[in-house]
Formats: sequence, structure tokens, C-alpha cells
Amino acid sequence: MGKTKKGLNTICTHVGEIVDEKFKGAISPLYMSSSYAFEDVDVKRYPRYFNTPNQEGLAKKIAALEHAESALIFGSGMAAVSTALMAFLRAGDHIVLQQTLYGGTYNLVTEVFDKYGISYSFTEGWKPEDFEAKIQDNTKVIYIETPSNPLLTITDLEAIGKLSKTNGIVSMIDNTFASPVNQNPIDFGIDVVIHSATKYMGGHSDICAGAVAAKQEHIERIFQLAKNFGGSLSDYTVWLLERSIKTMGLRVKAQNTNAQRMAEYLYNNEDIESVYYPGLPSHPEHELAKSQMNGFGGMLSFELKEVFDAQKFRKSLQLIKSSMSLAGVESTLISPAETSHALMSAETRAEQGIKDGLIRFSVGIEEPEDLIADIEQALHKVRSTESVTTH
Ligand SMILES: *Cc1c(COP(=O)(O)O)cnc(C)c1O
Repeated sequence: MGKTKKGLNTICTHVGEIVDEKFKGAISPLYMSSSYAFEDVDVKRYPRYFNTPNQEGLAKKIAALEHAESALIFGSGMAAVSTALMAFLRAGDHIVLQQTLYGGTYNLVTEVFDKYGISYSFTEGWKPEDFEAKIQDNTKVIYIETPSNPLLTITDLEAIGKLSKTNGIVSMIDNTFASPVNQNPIDFGIDVVIHSATKYMGGHSDICAGAVAAKQEHIERIFQLAKNFGGSLSDYTVWLLERSIKTMGLRVKAQNTNAQRMAEYLYNNEDIESVYYPGLPSHPEHELAKSQMNGFGGMLSFELKEVFDAQKFRKSLQLIKSSMSLAGVESTLISPAETSHALMSAETRAEQGIKDGLIRFSVGIEEPEDLIADIEQALHKVRSTESVTTH
């Protein structure tokens, strides 16, 4: 591919593809070799050096998608998160993290960092001044997640980018919920972009992978640790992920459309107490989301009116399954209080606004009418229980 910048779906389909010189196949060949020559070669290749042909090809695609100079692919989202964080932190350093993070990241910080002498502060709120308030002389990283899990709060990318630069701090974002289709944080001055590729990049609930995109200097620093930590991804899965990303633009745009439709339907439904979706004008940061996102994403959360049993509602759904993960082409939902945020105390959850009845909805690509019909029949079931128990 030439140097000129291509559009989203062209990048998804083509950038980084390996040309099959020998057989002229239409797609990238898969090189499963874990052993490459060391003589008469420009590069000494090895899977854990993150430089096999398939790893290099896919990294180019992901870098292009995130408007970054370079990228690395990892064996999981948490391998990407932990390696990126540890590459920029050492004993005596401090990190400012956004309140409400992905549960695994929260656990990494609260269970592991003390042991390495790294101190941390979580913000109280999502405004730039809430981050500024926590900065210390030894703060080396600011870490954000927007839209956040599970309440879809929005953090101001440009303001965090500026705040970090002014203070000589590296800014990092977990961009998983938005995917590169909906948000490119580097354009707003964020330094390091992290993905759980298990989610929208994979998109079919059958791949576990991670990625980091940034400028070359930062990627080099992360790579120097990554080759020692050893969190590389098998080339077979790299190849599958390349295939998945070809349709990411199409999938995620369909998910955006469906999620907007479902959010509006739920918002106008009198059995629903509240809906959290950045695409709704009622979202407190709707305008901010509009200014930094290309689409509002496929994730939303909602609460039923308190009289209804949320668990019974979930179990009454037939098409939409309860499932731990998210971002597949199939619609799924979870109860964050019982899964992703179960390790948090009930008190901390309440402080963060995560009610026990909150439902996080990962909207798939099904026909929205079918999703609505499924919700209608489940609501009908919980409504009838309600009338039985109260009368
Ligand atoms: C799933 C997820 C992760 C962790 O990714 P794994 O691939 O499960 O290791 C990190 N951040 C967010 C927002 C996620 O949804």
C-alpha cells in the first residue's frame, strides 16, 4: 500500500496484507514457523519478538486504524494493558487512573502495583480537573477509558492529552469500547492506545487478543518489556484476527445503528428507569461524545424500574443471551454487579453508580425489530410476576 492515507474500510481490508508471491492467493498467507534463519537475513524473526510476517502485517493494519506510527499485538487485552503500564512505570512512580475502569485493569492495579512500589490514585469524577487534582510530582502515567464500562461515561480526550503534555506525563487510553471505528484518541493528543482485540476487533466471540498503538518511540519501549514478558499471540490467531478486522468497519457501524435504535426504544419505554448511552441527547456528555467520536458505539446500559426483577428479566430473554464478554455480532448482556464488578465491594459499586439491577447491553447486528420483540416479551413476563406478587 502507498503512503497516502486510506479510508476506514480500505484499511480494514487491505493495509498490512502479505502478498502471496508464489501462488497469488487473494489473502495473506499464514506463516506458522516459530523458527527462522539467522544467517543472510535482515531481521531475526521469532514469535516472542513480535516480528513474524503475520504479526508485522497485522500490526501495520492496527497502527493505520489508530492513526499511529506503530503497533504491537498481544495474547490478550490484559497482556497489552499490563505490558504497556509496566513499560512506563517503575518503583517510586505514581499513576492517575480514571474512576470506573475495566474490572481486570482495576484488579491489576489494586492487587499488583503495591508489590512493585508503584503508587496510584483513582479520580473522583471524569472531568479534566478531577484528573489534575490527583497529579503528583512523581506521576508518570494518566490512564483513561472512554466510553467507560459499564456506565458509558465520557472523558475529554483533548483535555487529558493537553494535561498530560503540560505535566510531562504519558497518557494512555483503553479504547476497547469505542473500537478504532468510532474513536481515534491519537488525533486528540493521547499517547498510547490499548485494545482488547477480543472485543470489536475480533467481533465473533472466538478470539482472545490485545493490541497497543502509539508513536514508534513508545512502541519500542513497550516492545523491550514485551519480549521479556512474552505475551505474544499465536500466528494462527493473528491470521484469524486479520480476517476479522476486514469486516470491523461494517460490523461496528451496524452495531452503532442498532445500539442507537435500542437506546431510544429503552429510553421511551415506561418500564425502564434509566438508559446510559452517549448517543442519547439526555446523556450528560452527549456533546463531548459527538465532538470526539465518529459513532457512539454498540455498548449501552440500562436499569429496569425497581419494582421489576432484573435477573428474571435477563433469564426471560430468548434471543439476547447473558454472556460474560461483549462486542460480538450477537447481542448479549450481563449484570456488572454479578460479573465484571463483582470483586468490588457493594459500597464501592454504589459510590460509582453501579446499581445491582444495572444491565450492560452489547448490541449485535441482528435486526433491531427482533431484539425489541425479545425485550418486549421478557418485560411482559416480569410485569406479570410483579402483578402476581403485589396483588
Ligand atoms: C475485555 C476487556 C479488557 C481485557 O481484555 P482481555 O482480552 O479479556 O484480556 C480490557 N479492557 C476492556 C474495556 C475490556 O472490555
